[in-house]
Amino acid sequence: MKHKIFAANWKMYKNPQATRDFFKKMISFDLKAEMIFFPSALCVEAAIEATKSSNIQIGMQNTYPQNEGAFTGENSSATAKSMGCTSVLVGHSERRSLFHENEILADKVQFVQSIGMKAVFCLGETLEQRETNQTEKVLSHQLETGLSKANSENLMIAYEPVWAIGTGKTASAAQAEAAHQFISQWLEKKNFKKTPLLYGGSVKPENAAELISQPHISGFLVGGASLDPESFKKICSV
Ligand code: PEP
Repeated sequence: MKHKIFAANWKMYKNPQATRDFFKKMISFDLKAEMIFFPSALCVEAAIEATKSSNIQIGMQNTYPQNEGAFTGENSSATAKSMGCTSVLVGHSERRSLFHENEILADKVQFVQSIGMKAVFCLGETLEQRETNQTEKVLSHQLETGLSKANSENLMIAYEPVWAIGTGKTASAAQAEAAHQFISQWLEKKNFKKTPLLYGGSVKPENAAELISQPHISGFLVGGASLDPESFKKICSV
């Protein structure tokens, strides 16, 4: 049986009280699935506190690749680790497009792994790139650059086609599986072993079962549908 992983990207939603309320409900479901939540940095402390006697893990949505220093406005995953966080998202499409992150991603993955946290490396093509048959070329390039300093320990990949994030348009199960298979072959060639591959992009209770049944999809990174405990519970129950 497949080991499934359910990750939740809350982006810049929820305040500490809403975070506590969410976890009170979520924990009451007593789900056994592996779940990792990525609240905004200001809600990490509330999330850690609210989930401390549960199987739920908490992570950061971003990190600066240094322990500490004169980096005004940035957050350190080393600090997050000391608070109890286990994982860090790196290279989410919103970081790539809105904050122009590209070259720095390899350093972020390396830093996160160096302090013993799990890097969840996100990648995916735009609609224009898909429509001009560049998907594989783009994914290869993102893998080559983003993972150039990575090792296979403490690594997860989230394939998130940009055109499916927050748009309500999901990749079909066949499209998602094809991309996952391509990524999986790339990882094997580079000797990255046993790397879980998550799919992200408008995952909802209605499409989760078909997507998770694909052989190369080991779980999900969910945005919108993870903000409501009932809807995320349905996704985690597939
Ligand atoms: C995301 O933000 O990583 C994401 C997949 O969002 P959504 O599920 O809302 O498309």
